Amino acid sequence: MSELVCPFCQFPVGAGALRCGGCGASFLVSPPPDSGAPVCAVHPQWMSQHACERCGAFACAQCLRRGPRQELVCESCHARVPHAQLPWDQRAELGWVKAFWKTCVEVMLRPVTTFARMSREASVGDSLLFAGLSAFVGYFSTWFLYTLFLLAFPYETFPASGSDNETNPALFRGVAVVLFVICMLLVPLLSMGLTLVAAGLDHLVLKVAGAQGTFATTLRGHALAQGVYLAGLVPFCSMYVLPFWSLGVRVSAYRSLHGVGWGPAVFGALLIPALTCCIGVGSYVAILTSILAPGALKL
Ligand SMILES: [Zn+2]
Ligand SMILES: [Zn+2]
Ligand SMILES: [Zn+2]
Repeated sequence: MSELVCPFCQFPVGAGALRCGGCGASFLVSPPPDSGAPVCAVHPQWMSQHACERCGAFACAQCLRRGPRQELVCESCHARVPHAQLPWDQRAELGWVKAFWKTCVEVMLRPVTTFARMSREASVGDSLLFAGLSAFVGYFSTWFLYTLFLLAFPYETFPASGSDNETNPALFRGVAVVLFVICMLLVPLLSMGLTLVAAGLDHLVLKVAGAQGTFATTLRGHALAQGVYLAGLVPFCSMYVLPFWSLGVRVSAYRSLHGVGWGPAVFGALLIPALTCCIGVGSYVAILTSILAPGALKL
């Protein structure tokens, strides 16, 4: 695999990076006038960073990608070559558990390369299935522990106070188990619905920001970014850390799958969650003020 390094400081850089992670220099450099330096075939205003290893076209930092075998290719070759298969897309051969597990691990550990190499299209059903499974796995062990706690709770030591009915520990435990089963059935369904709505809203924002891809592509990015919920197998981590981690991965997914810059990708991934958050906090404040306002107390 050809290494790509910063021409100014030799720091290794990723294909498609617009700046050096070492010295911060921009890779979008105008060619010196009359120098005859190779310029990008698509963007003649920028010097070429590397020639495409498939078609030989000069490509600037904006146009360079890694192909399925990690070769450096231009944007148009990247769109045409058969892509590295995502394990989730190979679940017929790998088996569901292995395909899901491997996809989650790739998304968690190598989001940028994984999204850069995979195909951009998938059926809506494939993506929703992945989202549902991620939610199930993400919440399972935390809720399982809660249920174990409810089962182990010493109800016997609390006498039924002033009631004719005996407190029935078996009943409480039965309810805990039934609640657990219902929750674990509802969580994936709820997550699929939310994913569909959230990806739809993100897609509108991405369109405004100039993305060209289809809704199925946005949905694929949104769903696959939930692969980090595999870490929810470590109990109590899922509610606090994973939504933010997933949000970060979603930026990377939108960037690669829609072939846009970091700016539109961040905008597409964060605008709707940020607005939702503001509306949530806003209505909370509004409710608090209406309760605490002096007029409200008199009724
Ligand atoms: Zn550098
Ligand atoms: Zn090419
Ligand atoms: Zn270019």
